[in-house]
Amino acid sequence: MKILVLNSGSSSLKFKLFKMLDESVICSGLIENIGARESLFSLSHQEHRINKKIAIQDHYEALCIVFDLLFEEGVLVDIAELYAVGHRVVHGGDKFYKATVVDESLIEELKSCIPLAPLHNPSNILGIEAVASKAKELTQVAVFDTAFHHTMPNHAAQYAIQASLYKEDKIKRYGFHGTSHSYVFKQSCKLLDSKTEATNIISLHLGNGASVCAIKNGKSIDTSMGMTPLEGLVMGTRSGDIDPSIIFYLHKTKGYSLEEIDLLLNKQSGLLGLCGENDMRMILQKAKEGNAYQLAIDIFVYRIKKYIGAYMAILERTDAIVFTGGIGENSEQIRELICEGLEGLGLYLDKDKNLNTSKKDLILSQTNSLVKLLLIHTDEEKEIAIQTKEVLKDLE
Ligand code: ADP
Repeated sequence: MKILVLNSGSSSLKFKLFKMLDESVICSGLIENIGARESLFSLSHQEHRINKKIAIQDHYEALCIVFDLLFEEGVLVDIAELYAVGHRVVHGGDKFYKATVVDESLIEELKSCIPLAPLHNPSNILGIEAVASKAKELTQVAVFDTAFHHTMPNHAAQYAIQASLYKEDKIKRYGFHGTSHSYVFKQSCKLLDSKTEATNIISLHLGNGASVCAIKNGKSIDTSMGMTPLEGLVMGTRSGDIDPSIIFYLHKTKGYSLEEIDLLLNKQSGLLGLCGENDMRMILQKAKEGNAYQLAIDIFVYRIKKYIGAYMAILERTDAIVFTGGIGENSEQIRELICEGLEGLGLYLDKDKNLNTSKKDLILSQTNSLVKLLLIHTDEEKEIAIQTKEVLKDLE
């Protein structure tokens, strides 16, 4: 039996087909630029690769194309080979705190969460509806980015605004990247040979989107993203933490509309806003002492250091700090900059190990480091497959 995992971003769709038995990958692919004049489609299956440029209107159409192609290419012969489809769903609001089988009421709940994740939840819903149109009987499971963080205590989740806004309007910190933080935590415990219920880590997911999570005895107790993914670290195009008064200033004094401010903070800020480039590889290449690229790196790294200090304080004992995501896994330079000067906190990076570029999960710290430094390759799709399998096994 097989599990198909679908990860719909705002304009992309990643898919992976897993063998259910051992979660090995049978086939994977990606559609980018959904909604643009030309979408890029790629699929790899064993030695076979397909790359196409076609116009794909929305996630519904993208899903239908993926489904049809899996059959045309002979990756699937009969729909009965599929045990289930696992969907990444960005926002589960305060209703969903674990992976859940999709039914009509779940879809309605997801629709009610659209205002909380306007860029992502609509494409997640379209993905679910497209699968239902192709194979009505197929079991679908929603795996939420927010679910891992439902263990955050109120003092971490609640904003210091009127309490009724929390109680009645559910304005609170939900956190995201939950599948990644959860996967990375379990892999870290394997690498450290430690028990999940007695391990404390700080997980740094540093990609185009970036977040940090404090995990105590296997449970998320705080994370940097908030009600939406805008809060927290400096990201590719998102500002992360800012003084909320900047929004009033931009509106009242500079005449920005709310839509313009939304666009500014989500799409035109972060690394892009600071130096005109959101790709960390390019920024590192262009950085020189005193230029805007170097300053963007400095601000990015500084914010991460502040969160490390804060999360070490709330964890009381930190066993490891984990680097993951495109930047965390691939940039030895950013890892070194983050660790620089943190020896006082018990972090000692082994600079030779840090240069290692193998695809393996590794311990990067010196043997005497009080806090271990780990490099873990995240795999959100695999975690979605695992959670899909687990939730269905529980129902059997
Ligand atoms: P997303 O949030 O879109 O999933 P990724 O986790 O794929 O993002 O991370 C993308 C980021 O990783 C980009 O900023 C990219 O430049 C960066 N990145 C990838 N490889 C490297 C590398 N070798 N050095 C520095 N940054 C890298």
